[in-house]
Amino acid sequence: MGAPFGFQWHLTDACDQRCRHCYLYGGGAAHAQQMSRDDMITVLGNCLEFSRSEDRPLRFFLTGGDPLLHPDFWDLAERLAAYGLPFEVMGNPFHLTREAAGRLRSLGCRRYQLSLDGLEAAHDALRGRGSFAATLGALDRLKDAGLTSCLMTTVTAENASEIPDLARLAAERGADGFAFARYCPVPGASPRMLTPQAFRDLLAVCYPLFTELARTTSTSYFKKDHLWALYEYETFGRLPGADRAEPAGTDRTETDGASGAQAGSRDAAAGAPVIDGGCGCGRDHLTILPDGSVMACRRLAGSVVGNALEDRLYDLWHGPMNAYRQYDRFTACSSCPLLAACRGCPAAAAGAASDPMPAASGTVSAMPAAFYAPDPQCWRYAAVSGQTKA
Ligand code: SF4
Ligand code: SF4
Repeated sequence: MGAPFGFQWHLTDACDQRCRHCYLYGGGAAHAQQMSRDDMITVLGNCLEFSRSEDRPLRFFLTGGDPLLHPDFWDLAERLAAYGLPFEVMGNPFHLTREAAGRLRSLGCRRYQLSLDGLEAAHDALRGRGSFAATLGALDRLKDAGLTSCLMTTVTAENASEIPDLARLAAERGADGFAFARYCPVPGASPRMLTPQAFRDLLAVCYPLFTELARTTSTSYFKKDHLWALYEYETFGRLPGADRAEPAGTDRTETDGASGAQAGSRDAAAGAPVIDGGCGCGRDHLTILPDGSVMACRRLAGSVVGNALEDRLYDLWHGPMNAYRQYDRFTACSSCPLLAACRGCPAAAAGAASDPMPAASGTVSAMPAAFYAPDPQCWRYAAVSGQTKA
């Protein structure tokens, strides 16, 4: 069997929050679709056929909106459990009752991910009053149910200074995992991205903190962003590889998709980089929206390649998705030793570009032009290209 493959499946747009950085409701969009039960069964069959044809095991990430608001959420969760398919949930805290947490645990849910975007004032300013307290309450219910929890922060220029306190809070409150992901600009949203140097400074603060917390507490700290590879390369002189020593309890084997950011390597015979790490677009995951739209990456507006209700996923993967794995087009990364293991975040590159952004779902669109543009937060590229680092 090949490497694991992840489907990030948005069952519904329904959500009782209106986060300022949301890619669903950004720009004042107001659409609340949800996939019907029959369509979910069709999509699941398509995914299973993909798994067989591609010979890759599947992993599902059920999300929304808030997936628990979908009236057929439990029907789908029970189907996944019956097939023995691993699944995680990325949802809101408000509907995660004690009963829901226990039921998810009994169905074998691998993990429930909650967003925590700052300490109370900052988080509630972004996600709505009471959301911070509700998130910590949900975390307690996950613990009580014995369900693995993870807190995830979307890092912006506004909340970056609170990341260390959030990392400590995760340990104090007994979260099983903590990670942060970069904010990708969406039309109409107000948060700002960190500058390249500020992002590097954040990693420099977090590296020893995460290492220490992972050593002394039961919380795991996931180095999710691919630019961690750059930080470690510069700081410790090591390329990501099977022989590199990870600090205890830290883990960079998680990406937005499935199989993770493992080492990039070189095919000695061909001399070409073997792309087996870094951005998972075109490599290890797809996103499915409530209307069946299939996206290369949920954070990459305009990356719709087809529809899982009409198109064979295998055909999409070997057809329009080919446009997302033309690795020689990452010209900013071409001379970087981390090309195979990083390539930054093309969604951040596209989001930061000034081009008008196409709609997130609906019709199939041409690949966003800025997909292969330089990562706007890569401090290495900023330095070699002479861009300001401040
Ligand atoms: S140049 Fe590209 S591959 Fe190298 S660290 Fe920057 S984003 Fe990653
Ligand atoms: S484009 Fe960015 S968010 Fe999407 S898979 Fe690649 S690294 Fe992750």
